[in-house]
Amino acid sequence: MAGFDYIIIGAGSAGCVLADRLSLNGKFQVLLVEAGPSDDHFWLRVPLGYGMTFDDSRVNWRYHTIAETGLGNRQLYWPRGRVLGGSSSINALVYHYGQPADYDDWAASGNPGWDYHSIKPIYDSFEDIIRADEELPKIGKLSVSDVSDEYHPLKSHFFLMANCLAPFFSATYFVVL
Ligand SMILES: Cc1cc2nc3c(=O)[nH]c(=O)nc-3n(C[C@H](O)[C@H](O)[C@H](O)COP(=O)(O)OP(=O)(O)OC[C@H]3O[C@@H](n4cnc5c(N)ncnc54)[C@H](O)[C@@H]3O)c2cc1C
Repeated sequence: MAGFDYIIIGAGSAGCVLADRLSLNGKFQVLLVEAGPSDDHFWLRVPLGYGMTFDDSRVNWRYHTIAETGLGNRQLYWPRGRVLGGSSSINALVYHYGQPADYDDWAASGNPGWDYHSIKPIYDSFEDIIRADEELPKIGKLSVSDVSDEYHPLKSHFFLMANCLAPFFSATYFVVL
């Protein structure tokens, strides 16, 4: 059996990126091991197909949490991808960064270089901004489309209402995207 320089267990979001980075210069033999099947599956190719794979044991581990005391001891259904691409193959395709203040908090906690200003160029380096009706390139950067023009106005009204009510319930505020 051939030797490998790196063995990566799990071909999900992290494992696939890691395998790509490690094999890019052609110097290393990388073995990527995945428990699930190929991602050659109709509902993995269809936007919003995640409604069909949400509970499909062929591509989903279908976990349940333990009883959560903070949730009245309920056990929640916890889907996780079990297929090439992992959870990114069955997810909802929503793309967003964390809040800038969260990155800045990491940096302030003793992690230089993790502040939002430093991290943003890294996001820019792997994003390929395309129109929503453009065909996806088969290979390359992460394709991202801004569909905020298509939001129903009700969404903004809902968040405005939530922000008005939030001070009465907790310190949580909602961001209008
Ligand atoms: C239904 C759903 C909707 C989501 N929607 C969004 C969204 O819209 N936007 C967003 O940003 N995020 C979304 N997420 C979250 C996002 O997809 C995950 O956070 C991300 O994919 C996690 O990446 P990961 O590499 O940590 O794990 P995963 O991508 O889950 O990869 C883990 C991989 O390891 C494999 N594996 C596990 N154990 C073994 C083993 N013993 N041997 C071999 N292989 C193994 C699994 O089969 C899996 O393929 C969603 C997640 C789900 C489940």
